Amino acid sequence: MKTLQEKIAASLADLDTREARRKGVMGHRDRVIEVSKGLDGLREELRAAKLTVLNTEESLKHYTNLASDNLLANGFKVHTAKTAKDALEQIAKIVRKGPLVKAKTNLGKELGLTDLLNARGIEYIETDLGDRINQLNGTHSSHTLAPAIQIKEEHIAELFKKRAKETNKVLESTDEQSLVSFAREDLREYLTTAPYGLSGANAIAADTGSIILTENEGNIRAVTSLPDVHIIIAGINKIVPTLEDGIKVVQAASSFGAGQEIGTYINVISAPGKEIGPKEVHVILLDNGRTKAVQEGFGEAFTCVNCGSCLNFCPVYTVVGDAYGQDLLGGIGLLQTFFIQGKEASIDQGLSLCIGCTKCLEYCPVKIDTPHMISEVKQDIPEENFLKNQLLDTIAKQKKLDSLTKLLRFFNSYKDNAFVSKTINLLPSDWQTYISMLPQDIAKPVTPEEAEGYSRGGEMIHFFLGCVMNSLFADIHRDSLYVLSKNDTRISCPTEQACCGALHFHAGDKRTAKELALKNIKAFPGKEPIIINSAGCGAMLKDYPKLFSDNPELKRKAEQFSSRVMDFSEYLSLTKKDIPQSLSKKVTFHDACHLALAQGIKEQPRELLRNIDNLELVEMPDRNACCGSGGIYSLTHTDVSRALLEEKVQDAKTVEPDIVITTNPGCLMHLNYGMKDTPTYHLATILAKAYREGEE
Ligand code: SF4
Ligand code: SF4
Repeated sequence: MKTLQEKIAASLADLDTREARRKGVMGHRDRVIEVSKGLDGLREELRAAKLTVLNTEESLKHYTNLASDNLLANGFKVHTAKTAKDALEQIAKIVRKGPLVKAKTNLGKELGLTDLLNARGIEYIETDLGDRINQLNGTHSSHTLAPAIQIKEEHIAELFKKRAKETNKVLESTDEQSLVSFAREDLREYLTTAPYGLSGANAIAADTGSIILTENEGNIRAVTSLPDVHIIIAGINKIVPTLEDGIKVVQAASSFGAGQEIGTYINVISAPGKEIGPKEVHVILLDNGRTKAVQEGFGEAFTCVNCGSCLNFCPVYTVVGDAYGQDLLGGIGLLQTFFIQGKEASIDQGLSLCIGCTKCLEYCPVKIDTPHMISEVKQDIPEENFLKNQLLDTIAKQKKLDSLTKLLRFFNSYKDNAFVSKTINLLPSDWQTYISMLPQDIAKPVTPEEAEGYSRGGEMIHFFLGCVMNSLFADIHRDSLYVLSKNDTRISCPTEQACCGALHFHAGDKRTAKELALKNIKAFPGKEPIIINSAGCGAMLKDYPKLFSDNPELKRKAEQFSSRVMDFSEYLSLTKKDIPQSLSKKVTFHDACHLALAQGIKEQPRELLRNIDNLELVEMPDRNACCGSGGIYSLTHTDVSRALLEEKVQDAKTVEPDIVITTNPGCLMHLNYGMKDTPTYHLATILAKAYREGEE
């Protein structure tokens, strides 16, 4: 069995598969963005319905019992399974011999169902087109909703040609419609003769004891109605309070997963068949870690409706595919794996690959905060990376950070010296790359006194210095302060402020993150806005209340603090004065994930740029695609980070800008490294240049 690192390397090197997957997810994205407009109400209602069940252990128990009682009253045979092993034993008791026709079910993967069927010599036929393609190809599903997303169309045609030859059937042509018709015809015989059908459930309505399923292909309808015995396997997290809630589940799954308003078919099964349909319907309700997740405060992780939308938007999945997860894919899959199979399994399968970009949240119908929960569960994981530990410790302690910065400044000023370059060459290659990403000129940090020296009359603001930002990018602070001074602000810069704690929290050190948060809350008394020019730090400062969810008093203080935090562009777009600005350049703007998504700030920086005379702002394709920087991700997952950077650079170069602009120090270093001859600047640097040129 391959290690995670080997799987990632193989995925990254398989360019054909990467291309097929990228094409597939991009197509889904466009449709979902269009269809999901105006569905905020549905999302809120769906989230509330799912959390009603998964809120506490008591609520989960209550709705499981209610659903179970009503299913029994409707004539279903109801089985409860605590573990995957229990569920498999129950299936094995029901299915004596095949064939079994199977509809798509994510729970099947969680259980290892096909291994059981293979081990017992029970013939099974996948009836979902994508799963069937994988079955013929000897591969496994690599996407929740589009299981064969990784297989190129030409290869699919070859598979069906081979199948036609083996079965003496006619394949008219290899266009999409002919392939689909052939697959249907090939399945028809199995569907009409198999004694067993097996499916999952999109939702189970507790009030009516009904099973709700949606689909486009019509195979689920056949699997659930033609065989004599139908087995439904479902996690207890699929239970919703009412039938109406169940319909919301399928509507959301279709809109966010397939990008269609509603699935072609919605099946509601409320009893076994009388005249027609299966006489025996078994419902296996599986726990397998779900109650544990709820007990530990992570019920939200199981509110997922398995629509697969997060995979389509996840940059890590887009480049490494099913190497990100195993049985359950992507960030949400690994989070669930943490409770289903345990901590070690989720780490082995790629939990740490999440870059924390929050893209999965934007088009998740339930708005599941996967990245935050991943950072939370990582708190239990001992960090084995010595260099990473050292780096985090250095960032948390200002004195150590100052010494490191002095050393970097020294190296920088002597970088052409033969001895210095020889010393750098002795370092591991990843570190050499990292050093080459550092700014060319590292200026002396801004002191609080210097910052306050930029004060003009006008509104009082607090300026947040941060750690890496002030150590490596002090001149961006100077540009920011200059721009703020042009807009008449009175600047306070408290001396006791500390690092925001983002890198610590995301690396699994919540204790240090909380200590740093408390220092900052104390350092910034009053009601005035706290201005920050680093997207990653801003997102963290705005998220402080989540760190103290177990302490109402500290949470309240954190909320007061966070409500005052404003990104530099957010503040300026509200308060900017009409001062001449000019810059004759063609620029493109890279949305840092922690600004555009985590803070929802997309238009404000663009508005400031559009205000500059002679400046042409052009949008690159996929403008908010992650650049792969992710704090220290580029050090800990260099290969994935580099793959993300390559795609970003390709996108940015298509619009041939003179300058790329962004708002996060990590993105800045990464893009400067990737874009080579095209410089990347912070927004503040561009605004400062524009003010200066406007004055001339
Ligand atoms: S935060 Fe980003 S990398 Fe992590 S699961 Fe979500 S989209 Fe993927
Ligand atoms: S986490 Fe959200 S987007 Fe992802 S599969 Fe679940 S419901 Fe869909």
